[in-house]
Amino acid sequence: MNILVINCGSSSCKFQLFNIDTGDILAKGICERIGIDGKLTYKPANKADYVSKEPMPDHKVAVKMVLDALVDKEHGVLNDISEIAAVGHRVLHAGKYYSESVIINDDVKRVIKECFPLGPLHNPANLIGIEACEAVLPEGTPQVAVFDTAFHQTMPPKAYMYALPYEYYEKYSIRRYGFHGTSHRYVSKRAAAFLGKNLKDLKVITCHLGNGSSFAAVKNGKCVDTSMGLTPLAGICMGTRCGDIDPAIVPIIMEKEGLTASQVDDLMNKKSGVQGLSGVSSDFRDLSKAAKEGNERAALALEMFEYQAKKIIGSYAAAMGGVDVIVFTAGIGENSDYIREAVCEDMEFFGIEIDKKVNDGNRKESIISKPSSKVTVVVIPTNEELAIAKETEALVK
Ligand code: AMP
Repeated sequence: MNILVINCGSSSCKFQLFNIDTGDILAKGICERIGIDGKLTYKPANKADYVSKEPMPDHKVAVKMVLDALVDKEHGVLNDISEIAAVGHRVLHAGKYYSESVIINDDVKRVIKECFPLGPLHNPANLIGIEACEAVLPEGTPQVAVFDTAFHQTMPPKAYMYALPYEYYEKYSIRRYGFHGTSHRYVSKRAAAFLGKNLKDLKVITCHLGNGSSFAAVKNGKCVDTSMGLTPLAGICMGTRCGDIDPAIVPIIMEKEGLTASQVDDLMNKKSGVQGLSGVSSDFRDLSKAAKEGNERAALALEMFEYQAKKIIGSYAAAMGGVDVIVFTAGIGENSDYIREAVCEDMEFFGIEIDKKVNDGNRKESIISKPSSKVTVVVIPTNEELAIAKETEALVK
């Protein structure tokens, strides 16, 4: 069965076509600069890549160009477009409405639209992508929405409410939603399968550490808490996002610097985090190089990231009444042995004993704790696109 996975941004559309029976990627690529001029980068498996710069006035044209490329005589990987059994869309926000992926119908589209204010940059683009596929795919091709927020919908009110006047929850749906849900769901399931355990018997903390980072406390297979909030700005400090800060800082900075609400939002999302702290980079490879060369602010940024991660892990163990498995995933979690080591350092009192020799240089699915460690620490590479394809398959089968 072939499943096309689509991830639409406001001016881009990433895609991957999977043969879900083998897990192989048949082709992947990205349409960029949609509505500006247009650039399609198309990478088929076992055939030459190509780049096309034909105009892409809108997402419908972009999706049509992707489908044409997939059946192209020279570069194509399909004989006919009807060989695409279903399309899985990454959708940012489902508000309080869905805790699972769903087959897209008019109601689902209405919910995506209703959640525009909660995901103003992503939800409109996601809906455009869905409608573009509807317009150009053969009639009746099922489409599935896989939401970033869905996995976290099992959180209890004590974890998702903010202590603001209750009316703001009622009027504006202001509460914690959490993000990276597809990844947290995928790696928690994968970790249990890898360890030969039943997820329903485990208390797992998943650490998705990438350019954006978030944590989830997964008790008996259900998310009970997560570090991102109403938006993906909350939680640990990230590449360019500040994470949790004293909320009173916001009006103080606005007043002192004469900033508007959207300017201060931009500052916290794009100019803060380890980039803002260090003045070096948002990339942890650059930071560690600079820290080794004696840059104190880069060293401080790394220390803060590690310290905050440790505190979140401690708090989630407390929230669940223990922890059996800690999962590291995403760009930093999968690749950075020194961050994993620093986060797990001095946690023996907690039952966490990392095996430095196994951890060093390890990038693949593996256990990196000692056999004597009460808590099993694992690296599980995430694969959000494959997870979306699998959820799509499960729903349309
Ligand atoms: P992601 O958002 O999951 O793609 O992660 C991207 C981030 O992973 C980059 O910004 C880097 O900071 C980080 N990263 C990737 N490779 C490494 C590495 N070898 N060591 C440290 N950090 C890495």
